[in-house]
Amino acid sequence: MHDIKSILTDIVDVLIVGGGIGGLVTALCLHREGYSVRVHERVAAVEPIGFGLNLQPFSVKVLYELGLEHELDEVGIQGAKALFYSRHGQLIYSEVKGIEAGYKWPTYSMHRGNFQQLLMRHVRDEVGETSVCLNQKLIAFRSYSDYVEADFVNPRTGDINTERAKLLIGADGINSTVRKILYPNEGRPLWRGSKLYRGVTETDKLYLDGRTMILMGNPNDIEFVTYPVGKNTINWACVVRVDKPDVQTTSVTPDWNNIGHSEDLLPFVSHMKLDFLDIRHLIQSSIIINEFPMTDRDPLPRWTHERVTLLGDAAHPMYPNGGNGASQAILDARELTLSFRQYGITPEGLQAYDDRRRPATNTVVLAARQYGSEEILKIVDERSSHEFSSLSDVVSTEELETIMLNFKKVTGSNIQKLNQEPSLF
Ligand SMILES: Cc1cc2nc3c(=O)[nH]c(=O)nc-3n(C[C@H](O)[C@H](O)[C@H](O)COP(=O)(O)OP(=O)(O)OC[C@H]3O[C@@H](n4cnc5c(N)ncnc54)[C@H](O)[C@@H]3O)c2cc1C
Repeated sequence: MHDIKSILTDIVDVLIVGGGIGGLVTALCLHREGYSVRVHERVAAVEPIGFGLNLQPFSVKVLYELGLEHELDEVGIQGAKALFYSRHGQLIYSEVKGIEAGYKWPTYSMHRGNFQQLLMRHVRDEVGETSVCLNQKLIAFRSYSDYVEADFVNPRTGDINTERAKLLIGADGINSTVRKILYPNEGRPLWRGSKLYRGVTETDKLYLDGRTMILMGNPNDIEFVTYPVGKNTINWACVVRVDKPDVQTTSVTPDWNNIGHSEDLLPFVSHMKLDFLDIRHLIQSSIIINEFPMTDRDPLPRWTHERVTLLGDAAHPMYPNGGNGASQAILDARELTLSFRQYGITPEGLQAYDDRRRPATNTVVLAARQYGSEEILKIVDERSSHEFSSLSDVVSTEELETIMLNFKKVTGSNIQKLNQEPSLF
């Protein structure tokens, strides 16, 4: 029998499973708020490699409030605009981004690995060197009335380590073990017949102004997306339909480290041409290519189960359409902080976070399934099998604006509302 009093004085307030983007930002926020936190991460080291991810202004706001402003400029590129093209290379829409669009904060594009390393450095500096435990893969947890107990295995040695905390946050990504324990019958993520190839290419000169994202084609068929993630680095991603759009679970567990091959992808994009960018060359000269099934999961009826909850991709994995995965995880961290401010480190705090964030992210997951802002590409592609002579014959400016605005509303990108929102710290 445990002596509850001595356990409760000994243990950390919050144990975070997963040192990805969501877990690390949560650790920084909760530490700022005065709580003790520890992060347990399965991998042995965080590598500075990876592919691009995008941060929307509402998540950059949180990161600036955590004091990361200057370092974000070192690891990322502030996006200026996104240009949407038909599969024939005809311009459909130009979207101004970040500060230029009226937000007080920019958007950023960056290497996920560099960003994760930056966050990891801050957690170690601010929360403490021992606040991040690597080589710690969660395998089980047990909830008691006053605390949670979790078992971690060291994948290298096989040693088991048991930790206790007042609360446990599952921020362990799309293949979350915490979610699997809470929902044992859910199965693998859902797949609707599309593969996602990603690559990174080094270059002497970035295309256009060096701050522009290109989205081209049809997300329901073949879509090519590219954007710079560094002064000499371009990230690209290509969605290709390889099966019917019927929903099925993936036959394999999605793995971010799965190597892809340019020969498999090039036949799909041979018709895609832009006069300022050689897409074929960009793909062929990649230093690394990854292949990932386009997957998500259905929204859950609840994330919080007494002293345990889910956050980020573990709670709401979503399609990358609209570039919201990392940004929504950061909003989760913000809301968790606000909920603890109101209810303390309690199951009520976890429940308040669930009540506020789950409905909001459910809508984003479903909107991303409908291709987010990239729905405009799908509409144009389905209405015009050949080059159009005038875009207005295919779609009105009003229809395009409505789709863009609706997705912004869903994700939390309302300019006026965001600009007036009080600072978290
Ligand atoms: C290796 C990797 C590469 C990625 N590359 C890209 C990319 O190029 N572009 C992009 O848009 N998104 C990428 N993502 C996903 C992206 O980071 C997330 O969609 C988003 O940032 C939300 O972050 P998250 O913290 O919820 O999940 P993630 O960033 O996926 O982080 C989850 C973390 O939990 C750890 N973990 C998993 N299981 C356990 C366990 N049982 N015990 C302890 N720790 C565990 C993982 O190692 C990982 O560090 C990648 C994720 C990973 C893990």
